[in-house]
Amino acid sequence: MSHLTALRMFRAFIHGATAGQFKGKKLLKPSHLTRPFSSLTTHLVGMKTVRIPALILCAASLAFSGLVSPASANHTAASGNEYLLPALPEYITGPFPIEVSVSGPAPVCEVRYGNQKRSTAPWLFTLTPAAVNNNDSFDVKLCDGEFERGPWVDTEAPFNTGERFVDGNGAAVRNNLATPATVVLLKPDGAESFRSEIPPFGGIEIPLPEVKKTTTFSIVISNSSGQIMTAPVVKAVGWNVYDARLTKYDPCTTVTWAYDPSGKAIEPVYPYTRPGEDVKKKKQPAAAKTFKKDIQGSFDLLEKNTSLTFVETDDYTNADIRIGWANLGKGSSLGNHGTLIKGGTGSTDGQVLINTKGKWGTDRYEGFKKYGPKNYVGWVYIEPPGTTAGRGWLITHEIMHTLGFLHADSDNSIMAPIDYGTSKFSQEDLDGLAAVFGKKCLQ
Ligand SMILES: [Zn+2]
Repeated sequence: MSHLTALRMFRAFIHGATAGQFKGKKLLKPSHLTRPFSSLTTHLVGMKTVRIPALILCAASLAFSGLVSPASANHTAASGNEYLLPALPEYITGPFPIEVSVSGPAPVCEVRYGNQKRSTAPWLFTLTPAAVNNNDSFDVKLCDGEFERGPWVDTEAPFNTGERFVDGNGAAVRNNLATPATVVLLKPDGAESFRSEIPPFGGIEIPLPEVKKTTTFSIVISNSSGQIMTAPVVKAVGWNVYDARLTKYDPCTTVTWAYDPSGKAIEPVYPYTRPGEDVKKKKQPAAAKTFKKDIQGSFDLLEKNTSLTFVETDDYTNADIRIGWANLGKGSSLGNHGTLIKGGTGSTDGQVLINTKGKWGTDRYEGFKKYGPKNYVGWVYIEPPGTTAGRGWLITHEIMHTLGFLHADSDNSIMAPIDYGTSKFSQEDLDGLAAVFGKKCLQ
């Protein structure tokens, strides 16, 4: 058994043993205990870490004596490419620059680590203590559109915090060292809300107080050796995200989008594309002249309410968000919903397809207004009774899925799973957008 394998097994044992201490269903998987906050934390709060003196680092490493091996990763992929990381320390305690070296026959067009995205070499990234654990990997996009798994990061922070966005009651924290740590939860006004010890190699769940609206708390973990980590945890009210640990884009990043009016560029959507239908031969539905205008309007709205910048690109294949259309069928839930996010619910892959068989497939409900009972023609209604949101809101809803948002419970939310005719953001929608992406960028 190699040292590396032994180390992983040892860690798996530690994590597995600790997982049993958690009651919350979200915490049963060990990965949730060690999955970190994303580097977004540094944007939101300015995460403060204190470098550990070298002496203490050595002492901490002693706990793994005999199991520690150089934490580098050398990984050969199916394309024949080789991905290599330099040796890493056992623990990182401050921002740590790292370069992925790529060699091989297949051209690489993008490398991601969490929500850090690089599209040209050098493939430089910054590991942060809260965003590192022993099973993170780099994701690689080849220039032909294929995805590959890059090298694994095999290091940890002294402490980990769990999900950054919490819609339940608890926030997980973990102590990766052999000495006890103390965790304190601070309210937005700085008042202490909770304090507890975290046992060596252990984790606990911090109770978050009930709040009426989205609230950002601070978690501060420290130990007697002077190691300290501060990270925010947001209690979400009225909104939720697919992956509460990571978000797809950092605040203030530029997100590219493309619209394919031809139907040619859509990715496989089996089994939703109708049997026998060759969508690749079609053009934008003749009845829909204002798709593009509604798409642009959606991005304008999202840009106004976040720190993100959305830029249109001609490069459909490599755009972050790709909008097209397809026949997704009439009467199915997808048909009612109007679109499909590739991979189904749970994916933030970035493809949005408008269903040509849904009620938004034509320009009848274009734009961002609310369509009401005036859609009655004489005594006959032409759609189910009630109000309908303009197609712009449908597109906004689907783009928000690609940004990482899940459905919300409230009928007043744009992220409600059903069209209730909602034609403006709810306060909860705006709170969610602001919490995940921030409102403004500091230049
Ligand atoms: Zn939806």
